[in-house]
Amino acid sequence: MTTGEPSFDNTEIAFRFRSNGDLRKAELLFRTFNFPWLVKNGPGMAAKAVDFGFKGLIKSTIFSHFCGGETIAECKPTIGLLWKHKVGTILDYSVEGEEQESVFEATCNEIIRTILEASGNEAIPFSVFKTTGIARFTLLEKVQKGNELNAAEKAEWEKVRERFIRICQAAHDHRVRLFVDAEETWIQEPIDRLAEEMMRRFNTERAIIYNTLQMYRHDRLAYLQRMLSETGFYQGYKLVRGAYMEKERQRAAEMGYQDPIQPDKAASDRDYDAALELCVSNIDRVSICAGTHNENSSLKLVGMMREAGLRPDDERIYFSQLLGMSDHISFNLSNAGFRVAKYVPYGPVKAVLPYLGRRAQENSGMAGQMGRELRLIRQEIQRRRG
Ligand SMILES: Cc1cc2nc3c(=O)[nH]c(=O)nc-3n(C[C@H](O)[C@H](O)[C@H](O)COP(=O)(O)OP(=O)(O)OC[C@H]3O[C@@H](n4cnc5c(N)ncnc54)[C@H](O)[C@@H]3O)c2cc1C
Repeated sequence: MTTGEPSFDNTEIAFRFRSNGDLRKAELLFRTFNFPWLVKNGPGMAAKAVDFGFKGLIKSTIFSHFCGGETIAECKPTIGLLWKHKVGTILDYSVEGEEQESVFEATCNEIIRTILEASGNEAIPFSVFKTTGIARFTLLEKVQKGNELNAAEKAEWEKVRERFIRICQAAHDHRVRLFVDAEETWIQEPIDRLAEEMMRRFNTERAIIYNTLQMYRHDRLAYLQRMLSETGFYQGYKLVRGAYMEKERQRAAEMGYQDPIQPDKAASDRDYDAALELCVSNIDRVSICAGTHNENSSLKLVGMMREAGLRPDDERIYFSQLLGMSDHISFNLSNAGFRVAKYVPYGPVKAVLPYLGRRAQENSGMAGQMGRELRLIRQEIQRRRG
């Protein structure tokens, strides 16, 4: 590891954990994302392929690029490979869209298993969970609206709170930092309230519980300022731009309320960088993780750290990207001595398909950002050919 200014152009460093075979497979995969029909229908086709016994095909292609495995044990080679280059892992149990209490209980137990796995293991610096993994979406919606809950719903909500507290308590007891992921605005309020409560309860010696702020929301900078006016506990934030923009805009338009999303990308970028700045200037009591694939924001944070006289490996500042994306940011930052961890999603192949569909969409021509991953992969293949 060398310490210095990171450059994101170095593909040799970016892909040094990928074999030639991995890169050829990745090139083919990212090329398929240029076919809009395939991106749109891919998740449905993949689900059928799994049902008809072709799970192996999915598992050895798109799944193996973006996921660590189906279980924690299967993720271990990836954890080891990343850590060889001082890139940490955040085990992300990615089962989505479930509705039954028994599944919520099982997911809660699985999240606690990720915390136990991370305990005392420097290769796994954080755990993470989504509240919708342990709670019914429509219940969260009802709680946010402030509608009167019936007796059964009250009991159900109590169970959600218990699970939330159980997960945070485990993180605290095992000294593992924990991210609470951010979700849709119409269920985010109860998530924020729970995350704030857990921060006040458990972040007494350092930041253990981190809430997530989506800076594509025009109200989040004010929220952060409000939170920072509170003292008496450490605060932790994962800063992201936000993943549900189209859905948010569409719902607001259909239901006729003010769009919660910034007017344009420049405004999201401006607030993202302003939030980084605000946190760095309060670093004595705020810890952050910049969850972004944006090169500019990552470099800005590097500059802010330098100006504040912080070491690159300051425990309170992490950079994070998703497995299979933006390796040029992750590995070049870690090579320059910064703290970096990748989200490593895992879970049964079929359950992870919605996650994989989003990654395909994000890397497709449809998302208007076709090119970067594919260009970098091709550049490295070319470089290795000499
Ligand atoms: C480690 C990690 C954890 C994450 N956790 C979460 C999470 O908990 N919750 C969550 O919602 N997302 C999460 N994300 C996803 C994240 O919110 C973004 O969708 C994704 O990272 C792309 O944004 P970017 O910062 O990488 O950069 P860019 O590629 O520079 O930005 C793209 C983003 O900018 C915003 N944007 C684009 N166009 C416009 C526009 N016209 N107007 C306003 N805004 C616009 C959108 O948010 C879009 O996703 C996470 C991402 C990472 C890497």
